[in-house]
Amino acid sequence: MNLRAEPPTIPFIDLAAQRRRLGSAIDEAVLKVVNSCQFILGPEVREFEAQLATFAGTKHAVSCASGTDALVLPLRAMGIGPGDAVICPSFTFCATAEVVALVGATPVYVDVDPVTFNMNPDHIAGAVETARELGLKPKAVIPVDLFGQAAEHGPIAAAAKAYDLFVIDDAAQGFGATYNNRRIGAFGHVTATSFFPAKPLGCYGDGGAALTDDDNLADLMRSVRVHGAGSDRYDNVRIGLTSRLDTIQAAVLIEKLKIFPDEIDARERIARRYNEALRDVVTVPVVPAGMSSVWAQYTIRLKPGRRDAFAAALKAEGIPTAIYYPIPLHRQQAYKQYPVGKGGVAVSEVLAQEVISLPMHAYLDEPTQDRIIDAVRRAVKAG
Ligand SMILES: *Cc1c(COP(=O)(O)O)cnc(C)c1O
Repeated sequence: MNLRAEPPTIPFIDLAAQRRRLGSAIDEAVLKVVNSCQFILGPEVREFEAQLATFAGTKHAVSCASGTDALVLPLRAMGIGPGDAVICPSFTFCATAEVVALVGATPVYVDVDPVTFNMNPDHIAGAVETARELGLKPKAVIPVDLFGQAAEHGPIAAAAKAYDLFVIDDAAQGFGATYNNRRIGAFGHVTATSFFPAKPLGCYGDGGAALTDDDNLADLMRSVRVHGAGSDRYDNVRIGLTSRLDTIQAAVLIEKLKIFPDEIDARERIARRYNEALRDVVTVPVVPAGMSSVWAQYTIRLKPGRRDAFAAALKAEGIPTAIYYPIPLHRQQAYKQYPVGKGGVAVSEVLAQEVISLPMHAYLDEPTQDRIIDAVRRAVKAG
């Protein structure tokens, strides 16, 4: 008989730890909004937008109801729709392609780099060619800062310039990361982020923001988020949506933004520790020089065919894992009807089979991390 207690299951992302740290500051901020009754576009929304723009080094931040809407706003503002093609990676969360389909345009998939897991800029030319052969007009590219790591924004911008494409950076996971030692936010025409609770900068519900340096695009996106309003709410000059960030969520985010830089540092410290302790047994993430990640996920790559047993071994020790993403978009039922660019998606196919993410958040203490590291090493060696 085994008298030893089962080890407690650790959280994959520990939102409660952050809640404890923020304590009464959040309670007071929320209560203030509740008492003010300015629930929609109250003063905290404006205040948070200004702080967010400053943080990212952009002129405008247009907050909205979700990260998905933060991608829809620029697509609508740019007038992208039926007959247009938008290039995006296949190895990403479905929202990246979903928004393209929602506005009536066609996503064209490109592959990712086997080392960074981010969009391979060399494949943009082939996707443009594919779009044209299909009679579509290539209009935009949506790179994703996957798992928190900045995409190859330099080469992507060069390709976008060559083919006259808008760049909408899907920074839902990577907001706060840097590329060429500069925070992402102004690498594309628009940078979209999400405040879904589990993202690096999350709120207490759904939320998002679209950032831009372009005054005209900012005005258009502000119009789209309130039913395409013109000079006032009852002057409707374009078809829009209802997509605002709740004032309560803005109040929460004002408090969270204060500790965000510190949390980014903590995530970086934890990721480095994982890297040091695991690089000899699994393929650990690689962040090229001059770039940084905010570690939305800490994702490793295993040898082929080992993932199920690995996940089961960790689960037995009370350690949760997650697979982002088990099915690339070009194989998803809802998205497989859309074309793949000339370069193919061979890397996306392989990564979907071999990647797995370990617990990662800013409050992962060293003893808990050591427990995870030991379990990973045991699971790899047992396989
Ligand atoms: C989470 C996420 C989104 C969508 O954000 P929501 O706020 O959940 O709508 C879009 N793209 C990527 C890459 C994401 O991870």
